[in-house]
Amino acid sequence: MSDTPTYPIGTPGQPWGEVELNLWRASQSRRRRYDVDVAPRVEALADRFERSVYGRLDYAGETYDLHALKSRDWDPALPIALVTGGVHGYETSGVMGALQFLDTRARDYAGRVNLLVAPCVSPWAYERINRWNYDAVDPNRNFRAGGPSREAAALIALVGPLRGQFLLHIDLHETTDSDESEFRPALAARDGKTYEPGLIPDGFYLVDDQENPQRAFQQAIIAAVAKVTHIAPPDAAGEIIGSPVVAEGVIEYPLQAYGLCAAITGARYTTTTEVYPDSPRTSPQECNAAQVAAVCAALDYGLGMSGT
Ligand SMILES: [Zn+2]
Repeated sequence: MSDTPTYPIGTPGQPWGEVELNLWRASQSRRRRYDVDVAPRVEALADRFERSVYGRLDYAGETYDLHALKSRDWDPALPIALVTGGVHGYETSGVMGALQFLDTRARDYAGRVNLLVAPCVSPWAYERINRWNYDAVDPNRNFRAGGPSREAAALIALVGPLRGQFLLHIDLHETTDSDESEFRPALAARDGKTYEPGLIPDGFYLVDDQENPQRAFQQAIIAAVAKVTHIAPPDAAGEIIGSPVVAEGVIEYPLQAYGLCAAITGARYTTTTEVYPDSPRTSPQECNAAQVAAVCAALDYGLGMSGT
């Protein structure tokens, strides 16, 4: 027998069916409120940004409006920057960081770039502090046409008409201790696979696009965030979560092939932030500030390179 605990739902080696999916759903309770934490803050920003509802989720009678905010002085002559948070609903600083950026820093970029911000892409999961949506689907492996994530489909539809105009996209995430204690074991159980324990890095890192690496862009963000919070060191194998560290705090994934959110715009400059909120060396406020610093550094670099 392995000493790795078995996930409480399902039979080891067998992928979940409808019964297990329903058991999983029943185990998920509403632990915080999108309509309390997020929607009022979106509403409060509507005096400065144009608010839109780009989709509506209906999960067993629970409905969620999907909110986006964009620059009021939208100028088709300017490039677009997309900021997304809450693609994984449990990753709180992504949601709060996107809202905080709009509230405190976005005005610095007025007249230079069109901002489009979707602060909480997966609200059902925000409320359950979970990674998956109602269908036990990870939105961030399913940003592809015809994919099973309604959250991903709605965001793709929002962005689609604007493709070709994006200068950059920064997708705000976290890597948490619960990735190892809950979400990776759940993933293995769902798919009938064996859970292989991994290491959670202590610190901030970025995921670049293996198919379009922009090393200097990533390094500019790391340099800015390092002033706010600590950067994740490589593990003994020179890796972060199983991928080689290609520069301080930077790993690469093939974004498109993995169906990741950061691939949806086709922008030249794309990145995924990974804040580590469970470190004894940080705080929720610092994590939010790290996300804001990352967004500003991405904009500063991208606008500097595009000469606007
Ligand atoms: Zn994430």
